[in-house]
Amino acid sequence: MKPYLGTLGGTKEILKKYGFVFQKKYGQNFLIDSHILEKIVKAAEIEDDDFVLEIGPGIGTMTQYLASAARKVVAVEIDRFLIPVLEDTLKEFPNVEVIQKDILKVDLAGLIQEKNQGKPIKVVANLPYYITTPILMELLEQKLPITSITVMVQKEVADRMRMGPGTKEYGALSLAVQYYAKPCTAAQVPPSCFIPRPKVGSTVIQLKIYEKPPVIVKNEQFMFQVIRASFNQRRKTLVNGLLNYPGFSLEKDKILEALETCGIPGNIRGESLSLVQFAQLSNALNERL
Ligand code: SAM
Repeated sequence: MKPYLGTLGGTKEILKKYGFVFQKKYGQNFLIDSHILEKIVKAAEIEDDDFVLEIGPGIGTMTQYLASAARKVVAVEIDRFLIPVLEDTLKEFPNVEVIQKDILKVDLAGLIQEKNQGKPIKVVANLPYYITTPILMELLEQKLPITSITVMVQKEVADRMRMGPGTKEYGALSLAVQYYAKPCTAAQVPPSCFIPRPKVGSTVIQLKIYEKPPVIVKNEQFMFQVIRASFNQRRKTLVNGLLNYPGFSLEKDKILEALETCGIPGNIRGESLSLVQFAQLSNALNERL
């Protein structure tokens, strides 16, 4: 079955049929542009043997496109009022399974094991913007068998994910994403492609998950603490950020010594350090705890 949703008229018709009322708290902005939908599926590099996890199918628009390209799609939707709609719009797509649940409460490792025998999956979503970062961090930090994550996010968040040192967008999110994945921008999407229209522009970004992180880190959790501490007070030096971070009890001379071992100046700010330097520094600090 070919996808037939993805227009303003078709979407309005479905919404009217079910008397659907948009819930702002769930970040509901539905796609109404078939070109963008095709672009997303292309960017996600879906092949006919792929298993796709879709987060937030809405009325099933992108789900139809994904189901036409993949072997199997599991779509997790929190809003119970969308379930009867999805049963209708996806009835001709037998390779789709809808689960009504909050994605942050789903045992993802268990789901991949049960539905795809633990084999690698692809994640595709037009994410609800109010929980973009927690969803991405769950997907990345759990080290699940995922080959890529292709998501529509707020343009500003996509910029934070892909930028490097010395830019105002660079921060803890950039480093977390770039430690686990290679980000590639796939499309810029204006508010007019959604109903209702969001206030901001959106970007489709593909994260290709690394088999192995690009840097060697002895204690990942500690490196991410060092990163958070360094960006906690952006205007202060990295040394002050580390000294003032609650829960850290690093002594100043030990921090300076670690910086020197890594060839990093003592007055540097966190925003100037690359992922490689954060890895080196956290390894050096870890030895001095
Ligand atoms: N995929 C649809 C589209 O592109 O037209 C809808 C995208 S809309 C931006 C986000 C969707 O995520 C909504 O359907 C919303 O109800 C759902 N959602 C919001 N929070 C969720 C959560 N915690 N778990 C699962 N789905 C969620």
